Amino acid sequence: MSIADNLKRYKSEVESDGVKLIAVSKTQTEEAIREAYDAGQRIFGENHVQEMVEKEEKLPKDIEWHLIGHLQTNKVKYIAPFVKLIHGVDSLKLLQEINKQALKNKRIIDCLLQVYIADEDTKFGLGYDEVIEILRSEEFQEMKNVRIIGLMGIATNTKNEKQITIEFHELKVFFDGIKASFFRKEDSFKEISTGMSADYKIAIEEGSTMVRIGSSIFGKRIIKHFKNLSAN
Ligand SMILES: *Cc1c(COP(=O)(O)O)cnc(C)c1O
Repeated sequence: MSIADNLKRYKSEVESDGVKLIAVSKTQTEEAIREAYDAGQRIFGENHVQEMVEKEEKLPKDIEWHLIGHLQTNKVKYIAPFVKLIHGVDSLKLLQEINKQALKNKRIIDCLLQVYIADEDTKFGLGYDEVIEILRSEEFQEMKNVRIIGLMGIATNTKNEKQITIEFHELKVFFDGIKASFFRKEDSFKEISTGMSADYKIAIEEGSTMVRIGSSIFGKRIIKHFKNLSAN
């Protein structure tokens, strides 16, 4: 199956459930992205800042670029002019920097708070209590240039579907609580970014509104190394 065929299949499958498809194009070539674009895809997810900046410069301007990976505070400035959604916000400090850079660019940048739901040490994210702490903080309430539109989570990398189901379910229950307590009047707070190639079906059953699918569309990733923008 070609990239275009895979793309169309996943896009129609998830969109029939009312879910947005983020085509995860990290490490993929511009040609591969163009093939997905020509097949109708407009939302692409990248996890490295420099790679996303380089691709944004060369590819069509109506692409929505989503940063899905861990974001370092000192790199926010490179993506602030164009990024559509930052999925992995995991500290108040990062949110403050996004707010600052968004203001400089006269924008409001949409963000998701990344919640730690996996039973693993390696995943980034906030604890449930830390999410509440951020939302209650004066610093957050003063921010005018970021808008939190939902939550993001990565389940444990396991074949145990029951465990994955529980993790996504807990995130949905937490989302509903946060929505009622902090965002009752904000219709924009409605996104749950969960689900990757291996677990997107469970994610959708458990309330995902955005799935991030890479290898099932583009095939296996070729690992490339990009120079660090801030290194000189
Ligand atoms: C790479 C990545 C994905 C996509 O993973 P696949 O297994 O290739 O679908 C989704 N989310 C995040 C945060 C990623 O880094």
